Order: sequence, then structure tokens, then C-alpha cells
Amino acid sequence: MFLKTIFIGLAAFTLMGAAGLADPPPGILDANAIDRSVSPCQDFYKFACGNWQSHFQLPPDKDSFYRQFSGLDDLADATLQSVLERFVAGDRTLPSSAPQQLAAFYSSCINETQISKEAYPTVKSMVDKMEKVKTPRDLARLVAQLHLMGVNVLFNFASGQDLNDSTKVIGFADQGGLSLPDQDYYFNTKPKYVEIVSKFKEHVAKIFALYGVSNDKATAQANMIYELEKHLAAHAMKLADRQDSSKVNHPGTRANLKALTPVFSWDDYFTALGTPQVNALNVDDPEFYKGLNETLKIIPLANLKVYFSWQILNRFASDMTKNFDSEHFQFWSTYLKGTQQDYPRARVCTRATEGALQDALAQAYVSLQSADAIKAKTKTMLDAIRSIFGGDLQTLSWLDDPTRAAALAKLAKVGDKIGFPDHWRNFNGLNLGSNYVLNDARQAVFNSHYTLDKIGKPVDPSEWGMPPWEADAYYDPSRNELVLPFAELLPPVMDLNASDGANFGSLGATTIGHELTHGFDSNGSQFDGNGNFKDWWTPSVRTEFQKRTQCLVDQASAYQVVQGLNVNGALTLTENLADQGGMKLALEAYKKIAASRAPAPDWEGFNETQQYFISFAQAWCSKTTDEELRLRMATDVHPPTEFRVNGVIFNRPEFAEAFGCTTGDRMAPANRCAVW
Ligand SMILES: [Zn+2]
Repeated sequence: MFLKTIFIGLAAFTLMGAAGLADPPPGILDANAIDRSVSPCQDFYKFACGNWQSHFQLPPDKDSFYRQFSGLDDLADATLQSVLERFVAGDRTLPSSAPQQLAAFYSSCINETQISKEAYPTVKSMVDKMEKVKTPRDLARLVAQLHLMGVNVLFNFASGQDLNDSTKVIGFADQGGLSLPDQDYYFNTKPKYVEIVSKFKEHVAKIFALYGVSNDKATAQANMIYELEKHLAAHAMKLADRQDSSKVNHPGTRANLKALTPVFSWDDYFTALGTPQVNALNVDDPEFYKGLNETLKIIPLANLKVYFSWQILNRFASDMTKNFDSEHFQFWSTYLKGTQQDYPRARVCTRATEGALQDALAQAYVSLQSADAIKAKTKTMLDAIRSIFGGDLQTLSWLDDPTRAAALAKLAKVGDKIGFPDHWRNFNGLNLGSNYVLNDARQAVFNSHYTLDKIGKPVDPSEWGMPPWEADAYYDPSRNELVLPFAELLPPVMDLNASDGANFGSLGATTIGHELTHGFDSNGSQFDGNGNFKDWWTPSVRTEFQKRTQCLVDQASAYQVVQGLNVNGALTLTENLADQGGMKLALEAYKKIAASRAPAPDWEGFNETQQYFISFAQAWCSKTTDEELRLRMATDVHPPTEFRVNGVIFNRPEFAEAFGCTTGDRMAPANRCAVW
């Protein structure tokens, strides 16, 4: 379970208008972004980002844009596109384990003429195959085949690290099969949600109509599918609960799954999935599987097949002809997220290839980068922040000695991966041709087998969970490690020539300190230094921790971002804790370095400590469509960016001191929350 920051959307524009890729990246600190008419003590986010927000135009192919990270996504996609074009042209000078597959996959995606001939009959043959399914055993085999292709039906099954034994990979049976973003969408009675459900049914009917079903029948089928998914949703766990590993940790065996959902032919399912031996598995959500049993008892096979055909079409619509692709985009991106138009085809295909053949492309990508100085600087910053955390743990008054010793032992074992892996998986056996839908299905099956084959084997400690071109990072509690991909270490996140204040406010707080604190957030703190789900707290200190985290939940829940919409304090607790910790640790690390040398020069009239806070805030300057903001507030564990700045700095007395705020100012409340 990665607690990464999720960024969707890229742009080819900066504050000053259209920018070519040859332009230098924006600085960590951006004087033009600041709105000096706003008091930093009243609304620091608006002070640091207001001018950027009033000038920046959200491009029509974005649902959001982050001043700091989105430009790095642009750069990565442009680089990867040029790499792919070299492979397509037959250039084999860049290293890759799968040059032929890269060229074939990308070429088949670009070739829209071929897609217009082959896509529909290919998808239709997948749907038609279901005619042969007659018995419960056939059904289980079909579900396995669909899961291998990445078609989201009924439930999810994947491999993962045993939460209780971090050396082993076991199976994970999770809830799934829902089209809408979360189970709450099926029951929420607010007008917006009622509208989304109605638009969703219209969309399903339109896709069926495009497929050739008569309009009346398509509408009836859409209604039936919605009701079927609602049955599944009724037993699904709420998103906020899913952030707590204690609520999803149910280790057992295949027999447990059979007992929960006896009507489903699990042995046939696992054989067809290519994992006939699987026995040790975790059922994330037993109530869901009990509910699934009831759903399967009452829904006729014919209706299940209609639901499966919808999910097949939904999975492959964007690989198909323009009419399917446009209808798919219109609902999922324009209506739900507010994105006005899709990326150019070359970028769509680049991103599809990034997902399909990640390591093969990454190998070529990293050969073009010079990383040594960047990795070394990052390591220095990480060591400085880790050492501050160790010092804080020694002195935090609310810890008792046994808990303090256990926390320090865990911190000492936190591992790190910086930049990119030193070896790459291969794609031997993945045969790709010129049919794009088929290629996409084949890569999905190939990658599913790769993941499922890990079940029953020891954990490979050298694995990475994110590609090097991603401007993002994660902490994995089961491995007790933080992973910082190469693109996250580039300007304007980190700059070898910037001040310590700027670098620690940005990479130090938003990423390194943030990810390190995830090891001790409301979920990460339930895992020990070896990555096992194990309680290392004395009960009274755990109670105190919960009291302190509840302060953050209440504080966030009281924060209104847009009219009528408050932050969900429970859903965003893990990320909020990481933000609070990241800010504090990086600030202390920066101050320690600054105290040992002459003061750095002012920048635009701001001293280096003020630069630290401005850098932190400007890392989160962003613009988001109203639709995307609503979607994220319902489904994203990260709070909105305004809160990630104001809701963090107002807990730091050092901020009030740095900007001369008076107690009682909005950014200097009398009562603050403090955990780590
Ligand atoms: Zn996080």
C-alpha cells in the first residue's frame, strides 16, 4: 500500500505563457507567484501563490496543474516520447530489455487507421467469448481471464507483502468491481452525487449504443448494471477505514475465502489465474466477500455477462475508435474531472507505453540522465532530516521510555532508495503485433502474471514501486523504506544551486520529511522496523498519540476549502500527519545547517527562514478544476493544496515568528496541534 502523492495532469504552459521545453525550469522560489497584497499571517497560501493563480491559465487538457511538479511531468513525457520515436525508427543505441516491444506497442497505439479497422472486432470477440460460459465453473474461469486483462469485475485479486511477515509474498483478495470512484457514490443523496449517478447510467447506455445495442435495451442494461454494482458497493469498506491496516489485515487461507463466498468456484478461478497453488492470502474486506456471495446468488448469469461486457468496453474504450474514445473521455475526464480535451495522440500513446513496459522504457530513460550529484545531495538532506527525527524522538515529552526506544529502533531501520534501480526486469515472452487492443490486453496479462507469480516467493528487497520519471515519492510500511524517484529530485523540487532554505522547504519538507513521517503516521506506526504489522507502543502512549492525531482530524474537518466543502479530516489523516512532520523535521534540519555558517543572502527581501516557508508553500501552488477538486475531496487521501500549506504552517510557532504574526491571526492560532 503506497501512500504516495498522486498527481494527474501535465501542461506545456508556465505563468508567462507557452513555454518550449528548451526553457530553463522555473526556480524553486518564484517572486512572480507571490501576491504581496495578501497578508502572510492571514492566508499564507494565497500570499505565496496568489499571483501565480490569478495569471496561470489551466490548459484545456488538464484537470489540475501544480507549479512545481506538473512541469516535470511534461518534461518526462517529452523525453520518453522522443525515446520511443527512436525505438520506432530502429535506433538501438539506447539500452532496453525490450526494444522491439516498445516500438510495437507505441506504433500500434499511434496507428489510428489500423485501430479503426481492428479495435471493434477485437473487443467484440472478447465479449462474444462469454456466450460459451454456462456453469459456475465457467464463470470463475471467465472472471480470472478478465482480471488478467485488467477488466474490473466483481472483486480484486493481487499479490502483496504479508502484513504480518514482511519476508513473504501472499495473495490479497480485495473489494472491487465498481465503476464509480468509490462506494459512497452509490448511496450519497446529495444532488451532485444523484446527478453523477444519472450521468453515469447515460454514459453506460451510450457506450452500449455505440457497441450496437438498441437504445431502449442499452438504457435498461445501464440501469441493471448500476443496481448490480450497488449490491457490491453496499458491502464495500469505506475509504477512510481502508487507510488503516488494522482494518484490512485478515490473514488466512483459501479456505477462508471459500467460506466467505462459497457460491464462487475459487479453485477454478485460481487455476485459470495461473496461481493454482495459492493458499496463504489476506482477505482485505471479509464483509465484502460475504456480500459478494449474496449478490452472486441473486443475479442471473445473463445479467452478470452484461455487466462483464460493460466492464470490458469500459476497460478498452480508450483503445478503440474515436467515437468510443470520445464518449469515454467525455464522461470520465470532462464530466467527472473537468478536463476539456485529451492530450495529443503521441502523448496518449507515450503514457500508455510507460504503463505497459515500464522497466524497458526506464532503462533507456535513465541512460540519458546524469544523476550522481543529485543523488548525493538528496542523501545528504535525507541523513540530516533523519538525524533531526532521531533527536526529536529522544526528547519528545509524551513518549515513555519503552515506546521511545522502539520508535528509535524503527527509525534506525528505515531504508531508502534514491533515483532509480540498478537492475531491470525483462519482457521475454511478451509477443506484440500491430493490433493495439490485442497488444494492450497482452501486456496486461503478461504484467498480471509477473505480479501474481510472486505469490509464495520471498520478497525481493530491490524492487521499486514507482518509475524513475515520476515526480513523486512514497513510503512503504511493509518494507519500512522511502523511495525517491529521479524526477522528484530535479528543479524546481530540488536545485543544486538553490539556498538550503529553498531546498529544505521544498524537497526536504514536502518529500523527504513527509515520507519519513509516514513511517510513524496513524497507519505506518502500526508497523515495526522490519515492516511487520506489530504493536510496539505502550497502551497509554498509544492513547496519547490518538488524542494528538484527533486534534489534527478536528482541525482539518473544520477547514473549509470551497463553499460548503470541508476537508475530510479522517480520510486525510495519514497525509496530514506526514505533511506536519515533514514541515517540522525539514525546518529543524535547515536551521541546524544555517546556524553553522554565515547567513545566506536575502531573496526579494525575504531572509532564508522566510524563504524556507515560501518554498514550502510554492511547492503546492496549483490550479484545479472544480470537478476535480470535488472528486479529490471525496476520494483522495491527500487534502487540497491550500490546506496542505495553511493547515500545516499554522501549527508551527516558527512560522508566526518568521513573518511577525500575532497570536490570533488566522495563520497563528492560539491552539495548535502537535504530534511528532
Ligand atoms: Zn504522503
